[in-house]
Amino acid sequence: MTVEVKRDDSQWFTERADEAGMGLQLRIRGKLHEEQSDYQRIEIYDTEAFGHLMVIDGFVMLTERDNFVYHEMMSHPVLFTHPNPRRVVIIGGGDCGTLREVLRHPGVEEVVQVDIDERVTRLSEQYFPELCEANDDPRARLLFDDGVAWMGNAADASADVIIVDSTDPVGPGEGLFNRAFYAQCCRVLDEGGLLVQQSESPLLHMDLIQSMRQAMIDSGFTACHSLQFPLPTYPSGWWSATMASKGEGFEGFREADAAARPFQTRYYSVEVHQGALAMPPFFLRATGQK
Ligand code: SAM
Repeated sequence: MTVEVKRDDSQWFTERADEAGMGLQLRIRGKLHEEQSDYQRIEIYDTEAFGHLMVIDGFVMLTERDNFVYHEMMSHPVLFTHPNPRRVVIIGGGDCGTLREVLRHPGVEEVVQVDIDERVTRLSEQYFPELCEANDDPRARLLFDDGVAWMGNAADASADVIIVDSTDPVGPGEGLFNRAFYAQCCRVLDEGGLLVQQSESPLLHMDLIQSMRQAMIDSGFTACHSLQFPLPTYPSGWWSATMASKGEGFEGFREADAAARPFQTRYYSVEVHQGALAMPPFFLRATGQK
Protein backbone atom coordinates (compact mmCIF):
# COMPACT_ATOMS: atom_id res chain seq x y z
CA MET A 1 0.00 0.00 0.00
CA THR A 2 1.30 3.46 -0.82
CA VAL A 3 0.53 6.18 1.66
CA GLU A 4 0.34 9.61 0.15
CA VAL A 5 1.88 12.23 2.38
CA LYS A 6 0.67 15.74 1.65
CA ARG A 7 3.36 18.35 2.12
CA ASP A 8 3.51 22.06 1.60
CA ASP A 9 6.85 22.65 -0.18
CA SER A 10 6.77 26.34 0.68
CA GLN A 11 7.59 25.34 4.27
CA TRP A 12 10.84 23.61 3.29
CA PHE A 13 14.27 24.86 2.27
CA THR A 14 15.83 22.46 -0.23
CA GLU A 15 19.49 22.25 -1.22
CA ARG A 16 20.08 20.09 -4.26
CA ALA A 17 23.52 18.57 -4.80
CA ASP A 18 22.80 17.77 -8.45
CA GLU A 19 26.18 16.19 -9.16
CA ALA A 20 25.68 13.77 -6.26
CA GLY A 21 22.00 13.07 -7.02
CA MET A 22 20.93 13.96 -3.50
CA GLY A 23 19.56 16.84 -1.48
CA LEU A 24 18.85 18.20 1.98
CA GLN A 25 15.60 19.59 3.29
CA LEU A 26 15.04 21.69 6.40
CA ARG A 27 11.57 22.77 7.47
CA ILE A 28 11.47 26.53 7.80
CA ARG A 29 9.41 28.93 9.84
CA GLY A 30 10.21 31.65 7.34
CA LYS A 31 12.78 33.49 5.24
CA LEU A 32 14.41 36.23 7.28
CA HIS A 33 16.50 37.89 4.58
CA GLU A 34 17.48 37.65 0.93
CA GLU A 35 19.84 39.78 -1.14
CA GLN A 36 22.12 39.68 -4.13
CA SER A 37 25.44 41.11 -2.93
CA ASP A 38 28.15 42.20 -5.36
CA TYR A 39 29.46 38.61 -5.30
CA GLN A 40 26.72 36.13 -4.45
CA ARG A 41 23.09 35.52 -3.47
CA ILE A 42 22.74 35.39 0.33
CA GLU A 43 19.64 34.04 2.08
CA ILE A 44 18.88 33.64 5.78
CA TYR A 45 16.12 31.30 7.00
CA ASP A 46 14.65 30.43 10.37
CA THR A 47 14.48 26.64 10.46
CA GLU A 48 12.52 24.56 12.90
CA ALA A 49 15.25 22.06 13.82
CA PHE A 50 18.56 23.84 13.11
CA GLY A 51 17.83 27.47 14.05
CA HIS A 52 19.07 30.21 11.75
CA LEU A 53 20.47 29.04 8.40
CA MET A 54 22.73 30.98 6.01
CA VAL A 55 22.66 29.97 2.34
CA ILE A 56 24.98 31.32 -0.38
CA ASP A 57 24.13 30.71 -4.03
CA GLY A 58 21.73 27.94 -2.98
CA PHE A 59 24.24 26.07 -0.77
CA VAL A 60 24.10 25.72 3.01
CA MET A 61 26.92 27.68 4.64
CA LEU A 62 26.01 27.24 8.27
CA THR A 63 23.23 26.66 10.75
CA GLU A 64 22.99 27.75 14.34
CA ARG A 65 22.79 24.17 15.56
CA ASP A 66 25.75 22.39 13.94
CA ASN A 67 28.25 25.13 12.96
CA PHE A 68 30.30 24.50 16.13
CA VAL A 69 31.53 21.19 14.73
CA TYR A 70 32.83 22.81 11.54
CA HIS A 71 34.34 25.90 13.17
CA GLU A 72 36.10 23.97 15.92
CA MET A 73 37.51 21.45 13.44
CA MET A 74 38.73 24.16 11.06
CA SER A 75 40.68 25.87 13.84
CA HIS A 76 41.78 23.73 16.80
CA PRO A 77 43.41 20.76 14.98
CA VAL A 78 45.67 23.02 12.90
CA LEU A 79 46.47 25.31 15.83
CA PHE A 80 47.33 22.33 18.05
CA THR A 81 49.57 20.96 15.30
CA HIS A 82 51.69 24.02 14.49
CA PRO A 83 54.41 24.26 17.19
CA ASN A 84 53.82 27.96 17.95
CA PRO A 85 51.00 29.60 15.95
CA ARG A 86 51.23 33.37 16.50
CA ARG A 87 50.22 34.83 13.12
CA VAL A 88 47.04 33.43 11.55
CA VAL A 89 45.34 34.29 8.26
CA ILE A 90 41.75 33.24 7.52
CA ILE A 91 40.64 33.38 3.88
CA GLY A 92 36.83 33.50 3.61
CA GLY A 93 35.21 32.74 6.95
CA GLY A 94 33.03 35.87 6.78
CA ASP A 95 30.51 34.47 9.26
CA CYS A 96 33.35 34.84 11.83
CA GLY A 97 32.81 31.46 13.54
CA THR A 98 36.33 30.24 12.72
CA LEU A 99 37.77 33.60 13.80
CA ARG A 100 36.08 33.26 17.20
CA GLU A 101 37.64 29.82 17.73
CA VAL A 102 41.13 30.95 16.62
CA LEU A 103 41.00 33.85 19.09
CA ARG A 104 40.39 31.43 21.97
CA HIS A 105 44.10 30.50 21.69
CA PRO A 106 46.01 32.87 23.99
CA GLY A 107 49.26 32.38 22.05
CA VAL A 108 47.74 33.78 18.85
CA GLU A 109 48.97 37.36 18.49
CA GLU A 110 47.22 38.46 15.27
CA VAL A 111 44.53 37.14 12.97
CA VAL A 112 43.85 38.69 9.58
CA GLN A 113 40.55 37.57 8.06
CA VAL A 114 40.06 38.26 4.35
CA ASP A 115 36.56 37.66 3.03
CA ILE A 116 35.56 38.94 -0.37
CA ASP A 117 32.05 39.87 0.75
CA GLU A 118 31.44 42.29 3.63
CA ARG A 119 27.71 41.52 3.46
CA VAL A 120 28.32 38.00 4.82
CA THR A 121 29.91 39.48 7.95
CA ARG A 122 27.23 42.15 8.39
CA LEU A 123 24.47 39.53 8.10
CA SER A 124 26.30 37.22 10.48
CA GLU A 125 26.49 40.05 13.04
CA GLN A 126 22.73 40.37 12.73
CA TYR A 127 21.60 36.73 12.55
CA PHE A 128 24.50 34.80 14.17
CA PRO A 129 25.70 37.32 16.81
CA GLU A 130 27.32 34.65 18.99
CA LEU A 131 29.79 33.88 16.16
CA CYS A 132 30.82 37.54 16.00
CA GLU A 133 31.37 38.08 19.72
CA ALA A 134 35.18 38.17 19.30
CA ASN A 135 35.22 40.52 16.30
CA ASP A 136 36.35 43.46 18.45
CA ASP A 137 39.32 41.55 19.85
CA PRO A 138 42.35 43.85 19.27
CA ARG A 139 44.25 40.89 17.74
CA ALA A 140 41.70 40.59 14.91
CA ARG A 141 41.75 42.51 11.63
CA LEU A 142 38.76 42.07 9.30
CA LEU A 143 39.50 42.88 5.67
CA PHE A 144 37.11 42.66 2.74
CA ASP A 145 39.05 41.68 -0.34
CA ASP A 146 39.56 38.80 -2.75
CA GLY A 147 41.62 36.17 -0.92
CA VAL A 148 43.53 35.26 -4.08
CA ALA A 149 44.61 38.86 -4.72
CA TRP A 150 45.38 39.48 -1.02
CA MET A 151 47.57 36.39 -0.79
CA GLY A 152 49.45 37.43 -3.94
CA ASN A 153 50.43 40.71 -2.24
CA ALA A 154 51.20 39.38 1.25
CA ALA A 155 54.81 39.37 2.47
CA ASP A 156 56.98 36.24 2.37
CA ALA A 157 57.06 34.16 5.58
CA SER A 158 54.54 36.46 7.30
CA ALA A 159 52.09 33.81 8.60
CA ASP A 160 52.29 30.66 10.71
CA VAL A 161 48.88 29.25 9.83
CA ILE A 162 46.51 29.91 6.91
CA ILE A 163 42.92 28.69 7.23
CA VAL A 164 40.89 28.65 4.01
CA ASP A 165 37.24 28.67 5.14
CA SER A 166 35.70 29.22 1.75
CA THR A 167 32.63 28.46 -0.26
CA ASP A 168 32.76 25.56 -2.72
CA PRO A 169 35.09 25.78 -5.76
CA VAL A 170 32.51 27.66 -7.83
CA GLY A 171 31.91 31.40 -8.19
CA PRO A 172 34.27 33.61 -6.15
CA GLY A 173 35.65 30.55 -4.29
CA GLU A 174 36.99 28.87 -7.44
CA GLY A 175 40.42 30.53 -7.36
CA LEU A 176 41.06 29.24 -3.83
CA PHE A 177 41.41 25.61 -4.93
CA ASN A 178 44.32 25.60 -7.35
CA ARG A 179 48.07 25.34 -7.58
CA ALA A 180 48.69 29.06 -8.19
CA PHE A 181 46.87 29.99 -4.97
CA TYR A 182 48.59 27.27 -2.94
CA ALA A 183 51.99 28.43 -4.23
CA GLN A 184 51.24 31.91 -2.88
CA CYS A 185 50.12 30.42 0.46
CA CYS A 186 53.33 28.40 0.64
CA ARG A 187 55.39 31.54 0.02
CA VAL A 188 53.46 33.54 2.66
CA LEU A 189 53.86 30.81 5.29
CA ASP A 190 56.98 30.77 7.43
CA GLU A 191 59.09 27.59 7.62
CA GLY A 192 57.04 24.95 9.45
CA GLY A 193 53.82 26.78 8.50
CA LEU A 194 50.51 25.01 7.99
CA LEU A 195 47.66 25.56 5.55
CA VAL A 196 44.25 24.02 6.22
CA GLN A 197 41.30 24.15 3.86
CA GLN A 198 37.80 22.71 3.96
CA SER A 199 37.82 19.95 1.34
CA GLU A 200 34.21 18.79 1.05
CA SER A 201 32.90 15.24 1.51
CA PRO A 202 35.17 12.15 1.55
CA LEU A 203 32.24 10.19 0.19
CA LEU A 204 31.15 12.51 -2.63
CA HIS A 205 34.13 14.65 -3.58
CA MET A 206 37.17 12.39 -3.72
CA ASP A 207 38.18 13.86 -7.10
CA LEU A 208 38.40 17.29 -5.54
CA ILE A 209 40.31 16.00 -2.50
CA GLN A 210 42.82 14.20 -4.74
CA SER A 211 43.34 17.25 -6.93
CA MET A 212 43.71 19.58 -3.92
CA ARG A 213 46.33 17.30 -2.34
CA GLN A 214 48.24 17.02 -5.62
CA ALA A 215 48.10 20.78 -6.20
CA MET A 216 49.35 21.44 -2.66
CA ILE A 217 52.35 19.16 -3.16
CA ASP A 218 53.03 20.53 -6.66
CA SER A 219 53.06 24.06 -5.27
CA GLY A 220 55.80 23.42 -2.71
CA PHE A 221 54.17 21.91 0.38
CA THR A 222 55.98 18.91 1.83
CA ALA A 223 53.07 16.74 2.99
CA CYS A 224 49.27 16.62 3.29
CA HIS A 225 47.26 15.41 6.26
CA SER A 226 43.49 14.88 6.08
CA LEU A 227 40.89 15.25 8.82
CA GLN A 228 37.27 14.12 8.90
CA PHE A 229 34.26 15.15 10.93
CA PRO A 230 30.47 14.92 10.75
CA LEU A 231 28.47 17.85 9.43
CA PRO A 232 24.77 17.00 9.27
CA THR A 233 23.76 19.89 7.00
CA TYR A 234 26.45 19.47 4.32
CA PRO A 235 26.02 16.97 1.44
CA SER A 236 26.36 13.39 2.76
CA GLY A 237 26.72 14.68 6.36
CA TRP A 238 30.43 13.80 6.31
CA TRP A 239 33.09 16.47 5.74
CA SER A 240 36.84 16.83 5.52
CA ALA A 241 39.65 19.31 5.85
CA THR A 242 43.06 19.03 4.21
CA MET A 243 46.13 20.30 6.00
CA ALA A 244 49.42 20.92 4.16
CA SER A 245 52.76 21.45 5.89
CA LYS A 246 55.73 23.50 4.69
CA GLY A 247 59.24 22.24 5.36
CA GLU A 248 60.59 19.11 6.97
CA GLY A 249 59.95 19.86 10.63
CA PHE A 250 56.37 18.53 10.86
CA GLU A 251 55.93 17.09 14.36
CA GLY A 252 52.19 16.40 14.37
CA PHE A 253 49.53 16.80 17.03
CA ARG A 254 50.58 18.57 20.27
CA GLU A 255 48.36 16.41 22.44
CA ALA A 256 49.50 17.67 25.85
CA ASP A 257 48.79 21.29 24.88
CA ALA A 258 45.38 20.35 23.49
CA ALA A 259 44.56 18.50 26.72
CA ALA A 260 45.57 21.57 28.75
CA ARG A 261 43.67 24.05 26.56
CA PRO A 262 42.47 26.99 28.65
CA PHE A 263 39.04 27.21 26.99
CA GLN A 264 35.95 25.07 26.61
CA THR A 265 34.96 23.34 23.40
CA ARG A 266 31.76 21.57 22.43
CA TYR A 267 33.08 19.15 19.80
CA TYR A 268 36.86 19.28 19.82
CA SER A 269 38.89 17.17 22.26
CA VAL A 270 42.16 15.24 22.20
CA GLU A 271 40.27 12.04 21.41
CA VAL A 272 38.18 13.69 18.69
CA HIS A 273 41.37 15.09 17.14
CA GLN A 274 43.02 11.65 17.16
CA GLY A 275 39.89 10.09 15.66
CA ALA A 276 39.63 12.79 12.99
CA LEU A 277 43.10 11.88 11.73
CA ALA A 278 42.15 8.20 11.30
CA MET A 279 41.04 8.17 7.67
CA PRO A 280 39.38 4.97 6.39
CA PRO A 281 41.08 2.50 4.01
CA PHE A 282 39.20 3.62 0.89
CA PHE A 283 40.39 7.18 1.53
CA LEU A 284 44.00 6.14 2.16
CA ARG A 285 44.02 4.07 -1.05
CA ALA A 286 42.46 6.88 -3.10
CA THR A 287 45.06 9.35 -1.83
CA GLY A 288 47.98 6.99 -2.39
CA GLN A 289 48.73 6.52 1.31
CA LYS A 290 48.17 2.74 1.37
N1 SAM B 1 31.74 26.65 5.95
C1 SAM B 1 31.27 27.09 4.75
C2 SAM B 1 31.12 26.00 3.70
O1 SAM B 1 31.97 25.12 3.60
O2 SAM B 1 30.12 26.04 3.03
C3 SAM B 1 31.95 28.31 4.31
C4 SAM B 1 31.44 29.46 5.08
S1 SAM B 1 32.06 31.05 4.79
C5 SAM B 1 30.53 31.91 4.87
C6 SAM B 1 32.55 31.10 3.10
C7 SAM B 1 33.01 32.50 2.70
O3 SAM B 1 33.96 32.41 1.65
C8 SAM B 1 31.92 33.44 2.22
O4 SAM B 1 31.69 34.42 3.18
C9 SAM B 1 32.47 34.01 0.91
O5 SAM B 1 32.22 35.39 0.76
C10 SAM B 1 33.95 33.70 1.05
N2 SAM B 1 34.70 33.68 -0.20
C11 SAM B 1 34.39 33.04 -1.37
N3 SAM B 1 35.33 33.29 -2.30
C12 SAM B 1 36.27 34.09 -1.72
C13 SAM B 1 37.47 34.69 -2.17
N4 SAM B 1 37.91 34.53 -3.42
N5 SAM B 1 38.18 35.45 -1.29
C14 SAM B 1 37.75 35.63 -0.01
N6 SAM B 1 36.60 35.10 0.46
C15 SAM B 1 35.88 34.34 -0.38
